Amino acid sequence: MSLFSAVEMAPRDPILGLNEAFNADTRTDKVNLGVGVYTNEEGRIPLLRAVIEAETALTAAHAPRGYLPIEGIAAYDKAVQTLLLGKDSPLIQQGRVITTQAIGGTGALKTGADFLKRLLPDATVAISDPSWENHRALFETAGFPVRNYRYYDAFSNGVNRGGLLEDLKNLPARSIIVLHACCHNPTGVDLTPEDWQAVLEIVREREHVPFLDIAYQGFGDGIEEDAAAVRLFAQSGLTFFVSSSFSKSFSLYGERVGALTIVTGDQEETSRVLSQVKRVIRTNYSNPPTHGASVVAAVLNSPELRAMWETELGEMRDRIRTLRLAMVEQLAALNAKRDFGFVAEQRGMFSYSGLTTEQVERLRSEFGIYAVGTGRICVATLNTRNLPVVTKAIAAVL
Ligand code: PLP
Repeated sequence: MSLFSAVEMAPRDPILGLNEAFNADTRTDKVNLGVGVYTNEEGRIPLLRAVIEAETALTAAHAPRGYLPIEGIAAYDKAVQTLLLGKDSPLIQQGRVITTQAIGGTGALKTGADFLKRLLPDATVAISDPSWENHRALFETAGFPVRNYRYYDAFSNGVNRGGLLEDLKNLPARSIIVLHACCHNPTGVDLTPEDWQAVLEIVREREHVPFLDIAYQGFGDGIEEDAAAVRLFAQSGLTFFVSSSFSKSFSLYGERVGALTIVTGDQEETSRVLSQVKRVIRTNYSNPPTHGASVVAAVLNSPELRAMWETELGEMRDRIRTLRLAMVEQLAALNAKRDFGFVAEQRGMFSYSGLTTEQVERLRSEFGIYAVGTGRICVATLNTRNLPVVTKAIAAVL
């Protein structure tokens, strides 16, 4: 009998399955709103000018590719810290911040999860309902039981504040709470500053461990603005985790550039915690890759390239906002049976459109428009050509 005869087929990743079906569709006006990437007006993933300049200089330097330190490129780690905590962060000055380069935001979550499993082996992890589809599987694979806390309110297309706060209060003390710092995936609905303050108070009271996931910094209201939740926790005196990603903000999806940042209680803790995080990395993949993080470090540490990047990121952010407004206007002009005004209030790449599974299915079968069954659409894949096709189809299936 073969070693593998009893291996069961793993469930298909729903988004990848959607992509396969989209690729096999022969309709020429098909639209894929399922993926989580930003595409430009031409429908392509942009290669940012700041990235091209940094890469050109790096290539010309023909630098040898030795192993990086386990924690990654020091100039990269420092740049990530300032982006998250601000350039005058007292925490950085006090030596309370550890940042290790990671294999994308996913790698940062996994390294953090593995370290936490050693630190709090019996803890429960709580994620928002709904959340990025990999959060649950990732923390379960790290060995934690994972629960949902109430988050999205379909009736108001907003946050279920009461449910959220109640659930956070009722979790076992010292639970690990995964929070989307900005541009919530999949809903596009973020917490207000008052909500964040209330969450912080419960976290403090219940001694929960906050794990802020920030994968879209700069896609909401701006680079600094989108870090507000991270800064709030930084000012609180609490210890916390942050996973961050440059996949979207640098349009470097395939380079896998992310970071795990941990705020400790004091400088002496920092060195012990760092030594343990390094063990997790060493036993998983030894040390991180060179290219993507070199590019990001070169951009963030050059005033000229950084200004260029900020402009390009601002253009992506503004374009998404324009698309959201245009979508709302077109649906209103088509006398759609629902008011979609909430789409303009949402932040980031995604929108919980409120479309039902049946409506999503009709969009696919009748119009060749692919969205996730939950009604999540990626606003960042719209453009002036496909938007009228999408809005007409949505108005037709309502
Ligand atoms: N966290 C959230 C909330 C995300 O939406 C994503 C990507 O879609 C990630 C983490 C993972 O980011 P990366 O692609 O850099 O691994």
